[in-house]
Amino acid sequence: MTSPAEPAIAGGALAGTAGGVLTIDLAAIVDNWRDLGRRAAPSRCAAVVKADAYGLGAAPVAAALARAGCTTFFVATVDEGIALRAALAPHVDHDRPPATIFLLNGPLPGATDAILAAGLTPVLNSLDDVERWSAAARQRQTVLPAALHLDTGMSRLGLTAGDAARLTEDSTPLEGLALDLVMSHLAVAECPGEAMNERQRLAFRDRAARLPAAALSLANSSGIFLGPAYHYDVVRPGAALFGVQPRREPGATGPMRPVIRLRGRILQVREIDTPETVGYGATYHARGRQRIATVGVGYADGYLRSLSNRSFGYLDGMRVPLVGRVSMDLVTFDVSAVPAAAAVPGAGIDLIGPDNPVDDVADWAGTIGYEILTALGRRYHRVYHGGEGASR
Ligand SMILES: *Cc1c(COP(=O)(O)O)cnc(C)c1O
Repeated sequence: MTSPAEPAIAGGALAGTAGGVLTIDLAAIVDNWRDLGRRAAPSRCAAVVKADAYGLGAAPVAAALARAGCTTFFVATVDEGIALRAALAPHVDHDRPPATIFLLNGPLPGATDAILAAGLTPVLNSLDDVERWSAAARQRQTVLPAALHLDTGMSRLGLTAGDAARLTEDSTPLEGLALDLVMSHLAVAECPGEAMNERQRLAFRDRAARLPAAALSLANSSGIFLGPAYHYDVVRPGAALFGVQPRREPGATGPMRPVIRLRGRILQVREIDTPETVGYGATYHARGRQRIATVGVGYADGYLRSLSNRSFGYLDGMRVPLVGRVSMDLVTFDVSAVPAAAAVPGAGIDLIGPDNPVDDVADWAGTIGYEILTALGRRYHRVYHGGEGASR
C-alpha cells in the first residue's frame, strides 16, 4: 500500500498503470491535527476516522496520528472499530493505556461481544442503548465504559431533551457504566454567525451539568473555530484533518494544509479537425482545431458526474476546462491552450491539487469536500507520503 516512489510530476509520465494516482500526505494530516490541537488547547484533540478516514485510509492515517500522540479516535461502525484497533496494535505504547476508540453509531443489539473484544467504547444514543449497555455490564458483573450523546438540534442520534431529563431524575439506568464522555453535535458550526450554535451550546451545558460528571465534547472541525467556549474537554475534528477548510470564504485560502493530490492519466490526445461533439449526450460542441485529452478517471472513481462541463484540471500549472460529460471510466479536457509537448499520453492532469483544492472541486460539483473525499475510488494507485517522518 505504501510506496516511497513519487509519481512523476510536471509533464512527466505517471507512475504505475492506473488511470489516476492519489497521493495522500500523512505529514500534512499530522500537521493539521497539531494545528487544531493548538487552537483547542488545553482540550484534548481526538481524530474522527470514520468511513475509512474520509476515504483516505484509516489504517495509515490512524497509525500516523497515534505516532504523533493522538490517543482518542472516533469511528462510526463496529467493523471500522475492529479494523482500527488492529491497525493501532503495532503502535501501542505499553507505558500508556491503549487508545480510546469511540463508536459513534452505538452498541447495536448482538454486537456486545465484538465491541468488548475490540475494546471499543460505544456512544449511547438513546435510553434503549443506555439500558442495553448497562444490562451487559450487570450480566458480566463488571463496569463498562461508555459515552453519552445528547441531541441538541440534529434529531438523528442522541437522547432527546425529555430522555436527558428522565436520566437526571433517575440515574439507575447508568449503573454499571463508567461515563467517559458526554457529547453533542453542532448542526451549523461552519456558520459562525448563526444563533443556533449558541442555543445548542447552552442546551448541552445545562443538560450535561445535571448528569454524572464526565469529560464533555461538542466541537467538530468547524466547531473548534467558534472559540474556546465550544472546546470543552475533547474536540472531535474529522474533515479539517484531511484538508477540508472549516470555513469557506470565497477566494481565501483556509488554515488547513491540503492533504491529497489526484492526478488523472492522459490516455489519448485528439486533435479535432472538424466541428464535432464531445461525450455522452453531445453536450459540448468543439468548434474544430481543438485538442481534447481523454483521461482514465470517471464517476466510477468518485469523480462525480455533476462535474460535467463545469470543472477544471491543471496540466503543468495551466488551467484546462473539463468538456463534455464525465463518463464511468473517462473524462475529457480541452488542452488546446497547453503546448503539444506537455499534453501527451501518460502525462498527468491534476483533478485535485494545489490549484484546484478539494473544496473548489466540491463547489463545482455542487457538494461539499466531505463527499468528494469519501467518494474517492478504489482504482487509483495510492501513494502515502510522510508516514514515518510524521513522528517528531
Ligand atoms: C463526523 C462527526 C464529527 C467530525 O465532523 P467534521 O465536520 O468532519 O469535523 C464529529 N462528531 C460527530 C458526532 C460526527 O458524526
